[in-house]
Amino acid sequence: MSDEMMTAGGDRLFDTGLAPTIRSGMEFAQRLATVSREGVRMMPGASEVMARTALRAALASVTAALASATAQCRRASPPADIEAITDGSGRMIYRCSHPSPHSWTLDGNPLP
Ligand SMILES: [Zn+2]
Repeated sequence: MSDEMMTAGGDRLFDTGLAPTIRSGMEFAQRLATVSREGVRMMPGASEVMARTALRAALASVTAALASATAQCRRASPPADIEAITDGSGRMIYRCSHPSPHSWTLDGNPLP
């Protein structure tokens, strides 16, 4: 495969609004792989780091699913993308990207 073909293929793959979501999911997965391979041996507390990174990877996957389903917040205009995150207390919620973000519980009920 020529360099030109590889470049063209890459352009097609990431010529989508999902690119940032896909990239962040891959970055978490890559970090998890690195931590898994080297962390236990090298770093005290590595299992905690791995658990946290795995959670972030899972949330990134949910966010990707939301994006691919074109789930959007319509509680303000224009509609905004929705991501899966953990809030300050560690609770998993959905949150939109409006300037004043709206949020929901995991079963989809609006939070104040
Ligand atoms: Zn919103």
